[in-house]
Amino acid sequence: MRIITVKCLDDNFSYILINEESNNACVIDPGESKPIIDIIIKEKLNLKYILNTHHHGDHVGGNLDLKEKFNCGVIGFNKDKNNIPGINIFVKDKELYQNNDFEFTTYHTPGHTKGHVIFHFHIQNLLFTGDTLFSLGCGRIFEGSYDQMFNSLKLIKNFSKDTLIYFGHEYTFQNSKFCSHHDPDNGKLKNKILEITDKLKKNVPTTPTSLKEELDCNIFLKCKDLNSFSKLRELKDNF
Ligand code: ZN
Ligand code: FE
Repeated sequence: MRIITVKCLDDNFSYILINEESNNACVIDPGESKPIIDIIIKEKLNLKYILNTHHHGDHVGGNLDLKEKFNCGVIGFNKDKNNIPGINIFVKDKELYQNNDFEFTTYHTPGHTKGHVIFHFHIQNLLFTGDTLFSLGCGRIFEGSYDQMFNSLKLIKNFSKDTLIYFGHEYTFQNSKFCSHHDPDNGKLKNKILEITDKLKKNVPTTPTSLKEELDCNIFLKCKDLNSFSKLRELKDNF
């Protein structure tokens, strides 16, 4: 499987996943259609599916255009079916979805929104976390509770350490400032900041990250209890 990271809107990431045997593709969280269409045409791909992690406009903005142009299916969480434009394939929490080209499991991770899900492509061990987990940060709590978000992050922490994390926004540099403010002596974090600064200087996205690096450096994954997580998340909102 080949992955193309696509920058959308101001700081969103969409991901085009390609089965290289069939040239069939799916796209995760198309925030807008234009940059996706350009790549589908240039690379001569068949866009078969859209997968959405949640209903926010910066993740579903391209759905209807793409569905109309390529006649692709729109896959999303069954409990979010009233919020996701064009949805016609419904997946459940912990359900394994398989077709001829792709295979992934959906996990419900409420907090940022009530119906947020993440997608785990277990054969390649890739996790698409949308706005639940970012590199060095986590999503804001909009619809859900702190408790839900804390538990959603706990679920992610239990994947194997070599899982590659593909997240929804290029917030890494801003997030790194918050992490180093609260964890100034973390040597692994210092190294990671050097790496991401170097990437950003070259205009290279900081996605993906690995779960191992996030466990070492992401202060939100280091919180031991709900109380300290909630305080930290509130501090970040005003950072
Ligand atoms: Zn969002
Ligand atoms: Fe977003």
